[in-house]
Amino acid sequence: MSIRRITEYLDVDAESMMWLCNRCGHALVSAERNYKEGCRVRVRNPREIHDPVIEGEWSFAPDPGMVLILEYYCPNCGVMIENDYLPPGHPVIHDIRLDLESLKQKERGGGA
Ligand SMILES: [Zn+2]
Repeated sequence: MSIRRITEYLDVDAESMMWLCNRCGHALVSAERNYKEGCRVRVRNPREIHDPVIEGEWSFAPDPGMVLILEYYCPNCGVMIENDYLPPGHPVIHDIRLDLESLKQKERGGGA
């Protein structure tokens, strides 16, 4: 079995070395790269998502000048794979790096 689950919405195929959407099997991008490069991205204003709860200058809704919400979707089935809260202009976070050599060895039966 060459497909291994990495997160709730992400698999990796140890044979093709591609990130896959866990829901539809769509190949996102090479496992050597950041899976987010294979996703559709939607940048959200945090005030569209978080209720301010109270009125006025100070509320519970984050200031969009300080934080944006990036949502990453499978371009095939549309499932949300991940989201990040980042300051405007911040580079995309590369949050998962796999030991691909180890995966290849296990695929060949060389390890547990
Ligand atoms: Zn999908």
